[in-house]
Amino acid sequence: MSIPCPRCDGVNLLPCDRDGLEIDFCPKCDGVWFDRGELDKLIGRVVREGLRPDGQPVAALLDCLEVD
Ligand SMILES: [Zn+2]
Repeated sequence: MSIPCPRCDGVNLLPCDRDGLEIDFCPKCDGVWFDRGELDKLIGRVVREGLRPDGQPVAALLDCLEVD
């Protein structure tokens, strides 16, 4: 299943599973997209793990890009 990036023309988002959290990221603009349920889960993780939304979670997501 590929979802086109809402921002880039002709670029499909790549699915990524991060600790049970399903996200889609764009290899072109580095945008990360996910549905509301997944967003809620991510926010829950951020709060629970004490990560600030302005750096650490992004680093965690970038980390998952290197898996594949
Ligand atoms: Zn994009």
